[in-house]
Amino acid sequence: MTDITILKVGGAIVETPESLEQLLDRFASIEGPKVLIHGGGRSATKMASRLGIETRMVDGRRVTDAAMLDVVTMVYGGLVNKRIVARLQARGVNALGLCGADMNILRAHKRTGAVVDYGFVGDVDDVDGKTLQGLLDEGVVPVIAPLTHDGRGQLLNTNADTIAAETAKALVPFFGVRLIYYFEKRGVLLNPDDDESLIREIGHADFERLMSEGIVSDGMIPKLQNAFDALAKGISKVFINETEIKP
Ligand code: ADP
Repeated sequence: MTDITILKVGGAIVETPESLEQLLDRFASIEGPKVLIHGGGRSATKMASRLGIETRMVDGRRVTDAAMLDVVTMVYGGLVNKRIVARLQARGVNALGLCGADMNILRAHKRTGAVVDYGFVGDVDDVDGKTLQGLLDEGVVPVIAPLTHDGRGQLLNTNADTIAAETAKALVPFFGVRLIYYFEKRGVLLNPDDDESLIREIGHADFERLMSEGIVSDGMIPKLQNAFDALAKGISKVFINETEIKP
């Protein structure tokens, strides 16, 4: 079976020109089939403020009302996605920018009944791995923006880490899948301010302990949960940058 690399890249990397160029050099050099999934929250916040639209966050997550959904659609599906595609084409990578509505690759439903109403936020129901495989077999490199749709015309803002894990799972029948979460730090760190304190491997018991000790916090908690979930669903290897996640 052919191996595939799914690389998810966080907001801070795609939004700084130098780190984006480095990331794209690295991504372009990966051999074999590959998929890039990107965030873009900081650009969305900046664009919203330029348009006079207020950004509301609850527990580090964006509240997506109708005006904010327009902003994230423009920024994730447009600006960030197309900039990445153009820069990959410049590197000879045949990138194709997609959101979840394109070719119906990512179906979701609007989250309801949660304690906090995050608005137009999607929970993924289905990823069309077969269609992605068809594109990958043609040598196309999908670049996926964190937007899904409900099949009835509604776009939904959706967490990019979750999209990466779900996309990786949907490709398991066709490839040996390697999933990498790339973000601005070297990996999971004992001290988030010290890149030298890299933890090389994390198992589930380590995760529980690191969380209870407060070493792993904020955005790293759902990232690691997505990583363990992906491993349980047959993904061969999962990395958070240089940290390898073990069952
Ligand atoms: P992304 O850039 O992919 O959107 P997030 O912001 O969701 O990433 O999560 C990454 C953040 O998690 C880091 O920027 C860091 O502030 C935080 N974090 C919390 N605990 C740790 C840890 N132990 N090691 C590294 N980062 C950590």
